[in-house]
Amino acid sequence: MSDMTTETSQQDKQERRDSLWRALQDVVDPEIPAVSVVEMGMVNRVDVDDDGRVMVEILPTFSGCPALDVIGQHVRERIAREPGVASVDVRFVFDPIWSTDRITAEGKEKLKGFGIAPATLARGKPLPMLQREPVACPFCGSTRTAMDNLFGPTPCRSLYRCLDCRNPFERFKAL
Ligand SMILES: [Zn+2]
Repeated sequence: MSDMTTETSQQDKQERRDSLWRALQDVVDPEIPAVSVVEMGMVNRVDVDDDGRVMVEILPTFSGCPALDVIGQHVRERIAREPGVASVDVRFVFDPIWSTDRITAEGKEKLKGFGIAPATLARGKPLPMLQREPVACPFCGSTRTAMDNLFGPTPCRSLYRCLDCRNPFERFKAL
């Protein structure tokens, strides 16, 4: 194989990846339908092999589990419509952890139109609209509880700790 061929195939691959990124512009977070998953900074990596097998890495935001399922499904459906795609593998990865720093400038503009001032987007903090009501402790009913680990043992569950009776408890993330 000459260097020329290798270069051309590398370029083809880059173009294919670019067009897959453009396709992902059509996929939105159902909680924030104004902004695409690309603008939200949720797409970590897109790769395609010579057989048309596509792998998309998504960084979950602070959306609940049902939203993640919907996003995964929409990513699969949208990518499957692209020419030459044989299969789509969507992976939710937690490294790096998604934060508001990843939102693109366009994304921030659109969020502003959606009623969220970019100034209120604190570094590494959940979007204000995604912050939930206080969670009541299942043991003593106190609402003085703290989230220990954002993602918990699985992406769908969070670990909390009661600040009054000190009991730890798990909670399924809700939309
Ligand atoms: Zn308690």
